[in-house]
Amino acid sequence: MTLHEKSVRQHRRSKSKSSMRRLASTMVLGTAGALAGWAFLGNPVDQALGPITAAHAAGGVVSTDDWSPTKPYPVHNVYYPGTEELAPDEMRVISCGSGMPMARLKQAAACFLIELGNGDKFIFDMGNGSLDRIISLGIPLDFIDKVFLTHLHLDHAGDFPHFFLGGPQSNRSVPLRVWGPGGGGSPKEWGTQAFVDGMMASWAWMISTLKGTIDTRSFKVEVNEFDWSKINQVIYEDNGVVIRSIPAIHLEQAVSLILEWNGLKLAYSGDTMPNQWWVEHTQDADLSIHEAFFTPGVAIAKWGFSGPEALNAVTTVHSTAAFFGKVMAMTSPRRAIAYHFQNDADTLPVMIREVEKLYDGPVDYAQDFMVWNVTADDIRMRRVVANPEAYPTPPLAEKVIDQDDPYRTPEWVLDGWLDEVTPIAEEIYSDFNEANGTDFQFQLRK
Ligand SMILES: [Zn+2]
Ligand SMILES: [Zn+2]
Repeated sequence: MTLHEKSVRQHRRSKSKSSMRRLASTMVLGTAGALAGWAFLGNPVDQALGPITAAHAAGGVVSTDDWSPTKPYPVHNVYYPGTEELAPDEMRVISCGSGMPMARLKQAAACFLIELGNGDKFIFDMGNGSLDRIISLGIPLDFIDKVFLTHLHLDHAGDFPHFFLGGPQSNRSVPLRVWGPGGGGSPKEWGTQAFVDGMMASWAWMISTLKGTIDTRSFKVEVNEFDWSKINQVIYEDNGVVIRSIPAIHLEQAVSLILEWNGLKLAYSGDTMPNQWWVEHTQDADLSIHEAFFTPGVAIAKWGFSGPEALNAVTTVHSTAAFFGKVMAMTSPRRAIAYHFQNDADTLPVMIREVEKLYDGPVDYAQDFMVWNVTADDIRMRRVVANPEAYPTPPLAEKVIDQDDPYRTPEWVLDGWLDEVTPIAEEIYSDFNEANGTDFQFQLRK
């Protein structure tokens, strides 16, 4: 059988509506025979790599009917944010943080953005450094108001205050909503409600002094603290989406999350040692995102840890790569995602070797800006081409500047104003009014 015939057979056998839809949207060839040429060849490696055409595989050429030196070739193996509509049955997951608490440019700490075809979007964890990645995707903040925190370590919650406090300047008009652990016998002051209360108190000066200057309606947080010790409890249910929590073994007051929607299941570990609740409740997940730490040897070499420190860190608080492999072998996800390690040219082969000793299913070793498109029939992984020069998206609601109780700068501070600058300010206002047909007057006191 030729490669082309094999491809045609595979194509006919495929009942994949979603891949057909994608094929249709990216189709550049006109005839039915050529259409078959764009199907996956069908083995797991090919599916992981994406489309390989029969024409390419046979060493031939493809038609340029619909593209040319001036009309762009329409098929790219990357994801450009803001260019692809989600299908009604599709889930898109983007790693906005895949690394460790130790800050590095290449990888932020834990953060996964989940977007569903019903319009819902969820953020699972917001580790330090992750907000820059989220913002680079160009999504209006009013659409990403739901944040789920697995626990309150810096590398899972560190950018939540940044996300909250940056809302007004970035055109968020709605309060943030956060779900996070508490209770379960742990001290009240360790819980998510106390975390948010403390954040508000820490930033009291900033929050108070912005009143009356810009729209500060989004300086509110709806806190949904749930009992972290409950097993497989529903912590969110709306619009066909159910999110459950199971306890994690990570000190205490840490959970893993399971999201189900439209027949798809995503499991996200946060931090945990291998545990029975994960094995029981994440079986056959479509995406199983689980931490995978360095081996003790790599931890010593890369982090400068002592032997006892390294052994403790990777085996008694976290899941070293071999633990990850065993857990995946016991749960058989459609696609496993290993995250929470510095993923570099020298560390990755060690991680793969450790995992593959115990697990031979498909694994993606996460870096920042990987994206998974998931449907019942297909899981496709690509890289995101992010926008490093993102600006806030336009507001989705009319701006309201509350003048009921505005902040006022003390008189003696304003007395320090340089009077020589007043004519310049007045000219700016005059020019603005002339250009816009308005009548604003410069006032030193805002
Ligand atoms: Zn942790
Ligand atoms: Zn962590």
